Amino acid sequence: MPIYEYKCKKCGHVFEVQQSFGDEPVKTCCKDGCDGRVQKVFSPPAIIFKGSGFYVNDHGRGNGNGRKNAAAAKADEAKETAKETAKETSKETSKAAAT
Ligand SMILES: [Zn+2]
Repeated sequence: MPIYEYKCKKCGHVFEVQQSFGDEPVKTCCKDGCDGRVQKVFSPPAIIFKGSGFYVNDHGRGNGNGRKNAAAAKADEAKETAKETAKETSKETSKAAAT
């Protein structure tokens, strides 16, 4: 069962409560005679672990696609350049013949 940490906004008392996921969150201070509102305190290590894992997966996937697309684009570009060069050459040839 996970343990949640709470901090009282009124007296500053920090305490831990063991709860299951379905349990209602603690709303009031457990200290006798206080009864102030409490706020859940999250532990930072869990958030950092989740973030780094997502980054690694995304980076690997993006790299593979990028390399494939770049190669395909280069091949198309070379084809277009060859076509344009052939067109220009035949135009120049026919002009020279007419003169
Ligand atoms: Zn309190």
